[in-house]
Amino acid sequence: MAKTPAPNEVRAFRRRLSIALFMLALASPGVCQAQEKGSVDPKPLPPLAHPDAPTVPAKELFGRARTPAPLAARTIGFYSRGCLAGGQALPVNGQAWQVMRLSRNRNWGHPALIAFLENFARRVPYVSHWPGILVGDMSQPRGGPMITGHASHQIGLDADIWLVPMPSHELTRTERENMSSTSVVRSDRLDIDPAVWTPDHLAVIKEAARSPDVQRIFVNAAIKKAICRQATGDRSWLTKVRPYFGHDYHFHVRLACPAGEAACRDQDPVPSGDGCDASLAWWFSDGVLHPRPKPTKPKPPVTLAQLPTECRMVLHTQQAAGAAEPVQAQ
Ligand SMILES: [Zn+2]
Repeated sequence: MAKTPAPNEVRAFRRRLSIALFMLALASPGVCQAQEKGSVDPKPLPPLAHPDAPTVPAKELFGRARTPAPLAARTIGFYSRGCLAGGQALPVNGQAWQVMRLSRNRNWGHPALIAFLENFARRVPYVSHWPGILVGDMSQPRGGPMITGHASHQIGLDADIWLVPMPSHELTRTERENMSSTSVVRSDRLDIDPAVWTPDHLAVIKEAARSPDVQRIFVNAAIKKAICRQATGDRSWLTKVRPYFGHDYHFHVRLACPAGEAACRDQDPVPSGDGCDASLAWWFSDGVLHPRPKPTKPKPPVTLAQLPTECRMVLHTQQAAGAAEPVQAQ
């Protein structure tokens, strides 16, 4: 019979768990909802009655910006608290990539992210049997917080890549809104689903992690477990692959701050070692896999004043008259 832990042990475990969860939340990529379907005819958000009111959530302002800020490209702030000047769109079709959920208008990033994705996508057919990648959410045209989905993706350096190969045909608008990715995680969440996970998944994630531009990659803990078991040869890239909640249908690539950008705040470096240790086992502990729901008071949404000061300029710099709206159709 299992030993019943003493109440003080339970309390200590709960305390450790809540501290760990709090630390994770600080640097978290947030929930990435690649599976939410979109519409081929998205309705624009209604204008705000008082956009200048100090209490307006920043996500309501940045969520309404349809075009990039016509400024020199720059990331401002932190992945989960910032914005993007001079955002660039990833073309919806490329040699080895296609962008999904065009209705979300989240295929924007810092030019460094666009260059990374284009190069990475082109390498994918050489390192795997995939013809290319499907790209999910990146950032909004001016970055910033989003009305739905992510806590991060705010400064144009994060991108979600679906864990399925790009089909060999060009997807229609409808397919891009309705198609779903596939979870590679087994239903008990303790490991990958061997019927879905393939060596190609490992090869594609490895190719991304080996890029010197990539700061870290978020995957489900079950995926990290499989990678720990299956990676052969050089394992130095493994530390960049970090376990996180969700991330079973897609992986999340985060680039480091571009060189010379003083307003961009880097995340702590990844620890040394491959991460295939007790820190990984923690993700499979009962309290983490099956957290007991507890009532939490929702935090008030971040306002413009709580973002770096330069984000005000990013939000308010007008597009020149007659500048085109982003092209959504194929
Ligand atoms: Zn993400």
